[in-house]
Amino acid sequence: MVTLETMEVSVMPLYVNGSSSFQDQVRGALEHFDPSIEIYDGRVGFDPTMSPGSHIRGRELLRRLIQSGYRVEIVRGSSSRCEPAYPRGGRTGSRVYWCPGQVPSNAPACFCIALGHELGHADQFLNGIVYPADLYSSGSSSVGFSMRVEMLNITGRHMSETWAGVTENQLRQEHRPPCPARTIY
Ligand SMILES: [Zn+2]
Repeated sequence: MVTLETMEVSVMPLYVNGSSSFQDQVRGALEHFDPSIEIYDGRVGFDPTMSPGSHIRGRELLRRLIQSGYRVEIVRGSSSRCEPAYPRGGRTGSRVYWCPGQVPSNAPACFCIALGHELGHADQFLNGIVYPADLYSSGSSSVGFSMRVEMLNITGRHMSETWAGVTENQLRQEHRPPCPARTIY
């Protein structure tokens, strides 16, 4: 069935919605996950003919998002979070809010890591492993994650249990220079 969302995502699966300076900031962060990243008119892509070098998992995260068939939109936010387009369970695109100046306070890391963390949540939504019970209202009409095992999977503590996607700690490990692993959520 064709819906407005699937039409959009077929054109721009991973999309940066913001000023050219914000797009530059997003590019600057995504380059830390895959040096071949490019952004054309807001659309994020990578060069599959260019070696990702040590960034195997970073490219895998981008590949999963770009080839998903669903739209994931990155916008500027006062804090970083990921909100599903359809918070009723099942596979869905999402909107990722990213605050470029925000660095993780619970474990030292590069500014790119918060964006990678939220894109990991976007990947979880794309794969339909998040359900309404996993979500909580975080004020007004926005929707956020509760602290269930999915959150721990994102950080890598329990990645061997239920989540085959790219974890925050994998992005931290292959970052240059490496960022220390996150041990708490
Ligand atoms: Zn970085």
